[in-house]
Amino acid sequence: MECCGHAVSRRDWMWSAMGGSFGAMLAGCAGTRAESRVAEDPLAGATALLRENISIDVHTHGGPNGITSRTARPSAELGRQMHAGHIAVLCLADVPDGPILGRNAQNVLVALRTPEPGFLYAYHLDRLDWVDELVGKHGVRRALTVGDLRAAHAASEPAIIVDVEGLDFLEQKLERLEESYRRGVRTMQLVHYTPNDIGDFQTGAVTHNGLTPFGADVIRACHRLGVVVDVAHATEPTVKQAVRVSTKPLLLSHTALRGSKAQGPTPLTERQITADHARTVAETGGSIGIWHFFPSLERYVEGLKEMADVVGVDHVSIGTDTSSTPGLFSEYDPFPRLVEAMLRGGFTRADAAKIVGGNYLRIFAASVG
Ligand SMILES: [Zn+2]
Ligand SMILES: [Zn+2]
Repeated sequence: MECCGHAVSRRDWMWSAMGGSFGAMLAGCAGTRAESRVAEDPLAGATALLRENISIDVHTHGGPNGITSRTARPSAELGRQMHAGHIAVLCLADVPDGPILGRNAQNVLVALRTPEPGFLYAYHLDRLDWVDELVGKHGVRRALTVGDLRAAHAASEPAIIVDVEGLDFLEQKLERLEESYRRGVRTMQLVHYTPNDIGDFQTGAVTHNGLTPFGADVIRACHRLGVVVDVAHATEPTVKQAVRVSTKPLLLSHTALRGSKAQGPTPLTERQITADHARTVAETGGSIGIWHFFPSLERYVEGLKEMADVVGVDHVSIGTDTSSTPGLFSEYDPFPRLVEAMLRGGFTRADAAKIVGGNYLRIFAASVG
């Protein structure tokens, strides 16, 4: 093929068909209508990036009808959205203390009661059954290893990493953690909104002055089994003590920089993290997921930059926290628009690929293998 005096190889043509910068050059030639359509598609570059790289939402509940829904059964809808949005992997988090959470008089999310022994564990097991049904009947793969992630991406089939938001169900029983591992959980967040025996959380009273000896045992058990440790929701002292115990990169899956101008005024201030807190996680080789609670995609990109300016692009991820709470993504169909906004906002393709999936993949490989 010849265009504007440039010989175009088969490989170049593939690249242009995926809408890269070479595609823009072709658009300046007297191309076919198909070529023009490619060049005119504003999402072509973003979609190509998602085809070429494994993309991972490092913390999600799968939207309003996802795993935290009280009523929705698993369906093919999540896989459909992932296909449509070209997103390869979701860290799909069940919330064991979900049934006892509610808003207090100050409109802050809290545990409304002390759960009776075994109650949160029973609910957690019920949610793992929900995942089994999603995987068994509705065309979503459950990834247990890096090899599974690569195979699912190569086959263009949506995959989940089973995640749990808060180990509040353990009740000092590490065998429950091992059971969760056997059921396929590969990312575990230590604390959430319910006081537990592991450590202090950001929105609760300080009762342990950080991580407890049992919390240290939990981290060591996660390392031994091969599970990513997520320190989201933990207080800064809890995180700093977790870093001292940990021998693997840590994930902090959903937050924003404390005082984020991009996010603006928010009731989530207590859940944001300081620059020092963020650097503590990054220094383990870890990554910090930025949630989707921003007024626009452009502001979300600014939020990613705020964190990247503090810790570097090797330590930032996408952790939307998509659930029934309003945010930018109630579903995954428009996911390429975020990637397009990142590229338009100044991230290189290589840096965008790290944030969109590569950084979590590094943590997963080091922790799970
Ligand atoms: Zn959370
Ligand atoms: Zn969440």
